[in-house]
Amino acid sequence: MAEIYVPEPIHPSVLEDMERRHVVHRGFGPQAVPYESVAERIEAVMPRSEPFRADRIAASPVLRVIARHGVGVDTVDVDAATAAGVQVTYVPAGNTNAVAEHVFALGLALRRHIATAHREVSDTGWPREKSHLVGEELSGATLGIIGYGNIGRRVAAIASAFGMRVLVSDPYLPAEGAEGDARTVGLDTLLLESQLISMHVPLTDSTRNLIGAEELERMRTDAVLVNTSRAGLVDERALVEALDAGTIAGAALDVLAAESASGPVEVGGRPPAEVPHLLVTPHIAGQTAQSLAAVGATALSDIEAVLAG
Ligand code: NAD
Repeated sequence: MAEIYVPEPIHPSVLEDMERRHVVHRGFGPQAVPYESVAERIEAVMPRSEPFRADRIAASPVLRVIARHGVGVDTVDVDAATAAGVQVTYVPAGNTNAVAEHVFALGLALRRHIATAHREVSDTGWPREKSHLVGEELSGATLGIIGYGNIGRRVAAIASAFGMRVLVSDPYLPAEGAEGDARTVGLDTLLLESQLISMHVPLTDSTRNLIGAEELERMRTDAVLVNTSRAGLVDERALVEALDAGTIAGAALDVLAAESASGPVEVGGRPPAEVPHLLVTPHIAGQTAQSLAAVGATALSDIEAVLAG
């Protein structure tokens, strides 16, 4: 039985499991305790998006594992953890399907004008004129997947069920290229041919602003761009300009340069509702009941594996 700190809400089934086997201190809800009040006794923590930095590691003499509830460890001070002999784990693929399904939720919403239709019906009643709401089907359309890793592959699999033609661009793919019917192409070809473009690459120095003004210019006028990966991959100001000018048909962002819990949201310096054909979701692509249960269960088994030595 270990003492574990859980800073943010996790799936109730995982929390129950944890509480059956360990002493759990919560950083959220009515039973919340500040980390500092229990730091001396904590052997494991399971942070989600809240950063876990050097000051907390220094305050935790018996800490043995920081199990990130999610993909990546950019919110954890890994150097400080390693120096203190604390292991850092993360869950690489627990929300792959959740993100992939969100891509189609956004792609379909854009191509079928769901947000506009709902707004019009809510604001002004049943529309007499519906020609501006004529949609485009996914079947037969070309999907361009930038980054063919865990999520890119799942998106490709779902796309084939929709009857889409699939193009893939990923410079690190092995020579045999993508699987099945997906065709491996360079980024330029993908931009020129795709009607739905979905990004699934990590944010690094070489992928920052991967989609900027020049890339947007190459896209078809009926193309919609979906980014569920990381803000910083898309130049938001250039995107807003393209949407204003109507040189692409739409865009959906689940990740924004300014992701903040308070204050108004802006995309490229503008309120999202003012930008035509733009949809924004607040970084929820990976967040489903199923993915939260799966990610939490894996993070808990990571903790138990480290503590068992
Ligand atoms: P992954 O590591 O499995 O795949 C990334 C792929 O990108 C790799 O195949 C790599 O070769 C490729 N790549 C790297 N540089 C490239 C480039 N310049 N052009 C084309 N391809 C390139 O990652 P994943 O699990 O599929 O995750 C993809 C992204 O989704 C990550 O940025 C991750 O942070 C993000 N994500 C977001 C959410 C959310 O809730 N919105 C949830 C999970 C993951």
